[in-house]
Amino acid sequence: MDRCGRCKNEKTPLFKMSRLNSLLCSSCFEDYYERKVKNTVLKYGMLNGVNKLAIAASGGKDSMALLKVFSELFPHIKFAVIHLNLGIPGHSDECIKVVEKFCIENSIELLVYDLKKYHGYTIGDLSNLKNNKRICGVCGIVKRHLMNKVAYENGFDTLATGHNLDDVVEILFNLYLNGNVEEMSRIKPVAPSMNPKLIRKIKPLIEVTDQEDLYYVISKNLDYASSECPLIKGSRMVERKNLILRIEEEIPNFRYRFLKTHLKRFLPILKEHSQPITLRECDVCSMPSVGSICSFCKLSSRILNWVENA
Ligand code: SF4
Ligand SMILES: [Zn+2]
Ligand SMILES: [Zn+2]
Repeated sequence: MDRCGRCKNEKTPLFKMSRLNSLLCSSCFEDYYERKVKNTVLKYGMLNGVNKLAIAASGGKDSMALLKVFSELFPHIKFAVIHLNLGIPGHSDECIKVVEKFCIENSIELLVYDLKKYHGYTIGDLSNLKNNKRICGVCGIVKRHLMNKVAYENGFDTLATGHNLDDVVEILFNLYLNGNVEEMSRIKPVAPSMNPKLIRKIKPLIEVTDQEDLYYVISKNLDYASSECPLIKGSRMVERKNLILRIEEEIPNFRYRFLKTHLKRFLPILKEHSQPITLRECDVCSMPSVGSICSFCKLSSRILNWVENA
């Protein structure tokens, strides 16, 4: 008979914890997950000096796990939720319903930003592109820019996102592979604000895995968008995540060790050698930018062109 590796009970469901190489019952798993997230938040001082907090929620398992675990761990901290409607057919409608339901049931303020309404295109429009391997990269630029903009325009000083260990290691893996030193130095649990219009970002789930987020939403019986984004098929991001999981089969705890090495060994050196970036205002949207037009505005005008000529 299968038993929980901690309390030895035979309660169901039992979660197979690949990182711990054991089974955990629901209650021991929730305890493990919540302790881990709490330790991360406290260890990196994520809530230090926060006055107005927003949490970015797509409606997927990671962000729903973040909303729940944050409410459980820090019930005294008020936060609002920001959701971007990306207009992805067969996916975005479910995402918004899940987030709305959670916010209504828990009396949380919800801000929804509609990409089509304000920018004239949707991420769904990109499905006609020939090179769909790049869609997630394009979508990532759109999401990062808009999340920051909505948070800034609504007076938030900190934005929490649901990036977990798998997400961050996948990004780092790619940056190291390409020697993108500038970007590497920005990957950390807390990204401080470098400009009044750039909101401080925190990643409370940076030390928990994809699998653990999924177990948490199952264990807590939470709704999350069960439909997969249809644009993810064939994306390089998924290929890399699968490759990293295969590496982890050969090198136990590879993801965590990679992250730790990055944070403890490489970041201090990168910081020492990197030049401070001078930011100016984008001529189009007036948000911070390295050049005269920010990457989001450049991308938006290219996307509108693709869409019109598709
Ligand atoms: S899977 Fe890719 S395209 Fe779909 S929402 Fe996520 S980042 Fe965007
Ligand atoms: Zn147990
Ligand atoms: Zn711009």
